[in-house]
Amino acid sequence: MELFDFIYYVLGGIISLLLLLFIINLFSEGKQLAVLKISILLILFIFHWFILDYLIYPALFMYINFSFVSIFIMLFFLPVGKKQSISIPIANGVRVDERDTMFARIELKPGTENYNSYYKIRPEMKNIDDKLRAMPKLFESEGKHYEKIKAENIIKMFQIEENRIAEVDGDVNPQKKYYDSKSITKVIKEQCLKLGADEVGVALLNKNYVYSHQARGTKPWGTEITNNHKYVIAFSVEMDFDKVAKAPKLDITEETAKKYLKAQDISINLAKFIRDMGYPAVAHVSGSNYEIMLPPVAYDAGLGELGRMNYLISKKFGGRIRLGAVTTDIPLETDKPVSFAVNEFCEICMKCSNNCPSGSISKNKKELIRAVAKWQFNVEQCYSYWRYLGSDCGICMKVCPFSHKNSLIHNLVRIGISNSSFARKISLWGDDFIYGKKIN
Ligand code: SF4
Ligand code: SF4
Repeated sequence: MELFDFIYYVLGGIISLLLLLFIINLFSEGKQLAVLKISILLILFIFHWFILDYLIYPALFMYINFSFVSIFIMLFFLPVGKKQSISIPIANGVRVDERDTMFARIELKPGTENYNSYYKIRPEMKNIDDKLRAMPKLFESEGKHYEKIKAENIIKMFQIEENRIAEVDGDVNPQKKYYDSKSITKVIKEQCLKLGADEVGVALLNKNYVYSHQARGTKPWGTEITNNHKYVIAFSVEMDFDKVAKAPKLDITEETAKKYLKAQDISINLAKFIRDMGYPAVAHVSGSNYEIMLPPVAYDAGLGELGRMNYLISKKFGGRIRLGAVTTDIPLETDKPVSFAVNEFCEICMKCSNNCPSGSISKNKKELIRAVAKWQFNVEQCYSYWRYLGSDCGICMKVCPFSHKNSLIHNLVRIGISNSSFARKISLWGDDFIYGKKIN
């Protein structure tokens, strides 16, 4: 056998094997129609590559096939087209008030002092918020996807979180231990992973991302927030693929609550670990003590990029993550933001936006929002859909092509997307073909 023939058959074998692996993946994801499509593709490929060519005119067809596939592979993986450069916004003193966030607003009870003082500052929000308050409550029987046992379980998990609020901060060991920043960064990252995080990174804390006033933390509503910590340790926890795939049913909300609980536990224990070394550290946990905005600090710490759907998209898990963070003064080495072309892919994709039942996700270009270029997101519309469903929806997270399982095939596609504009177009077309453009 000649060398060319050998390479030709090995290449055909690798492609067939990859398609077979993909079929197994799709099967495990429960995508029967996609299994059928790729199985037909595999049969056609084997027939064309190994049989038909041989029967008709081996040499010519082998050269044509080989050239076509080689060019395709090169265009898919080599840098083709432009990629946006990474930018870190400078702290310009414009901070967000936590009282303006959706959950903080919706918790205000009509007639209370906080309610009256908030709508005195923001009268334009009163009607919108009152209408939302009048809708069926989350996890209650009027919601479209209400399931008693799951709803009770979710409420229980959120209560456990609330009950641990006092643990976010504590006494610092007066006997400070001295470390070099490189080794202590390694120790802290290892500890964070040991505690259960899936990814971890460190950044300088951009003061723009510290809320200006507290709404749901350890201090009284409306207290000005001062957090002078120099560093933020941000981490992510993966959400289970099968649970996310059940969105917008309550399964995804149950998974969200479970992973928030886990993130809370990790951040509380990590902050305590640092305080025991003699340095201040505060845990930032969902629903009870976020002094900072997690997606942008996680971006700064290199955990992912911000996508059109307003979630941080991680390289490994896409939007299927929950975030947690600890701010501290222990001397650390920082990571850098990463780019794997989420921005470029989101420009052409629109899958979240096209599938969002409430029309909350922008189809337009990015806009400058508080000095940061972002896609517009209508948080009130999104939340009103949550109230209608009784769950936290998650359809956008489910349909996002970055949310697929962290498998060999999807990782190869991610490499292509991150390098080549050709790969981004082909991958989007492939995603629509295999998984469908719109979900039912
Ligand atoms: S959670 Fe649902 S309603 Fe909200 S943006 Fe995503 S798809 Fe739209
Ligand atoms: S679905 Fe598409 S447009 Fe939306 S965040 Fe994911 S990649 Fe970006």
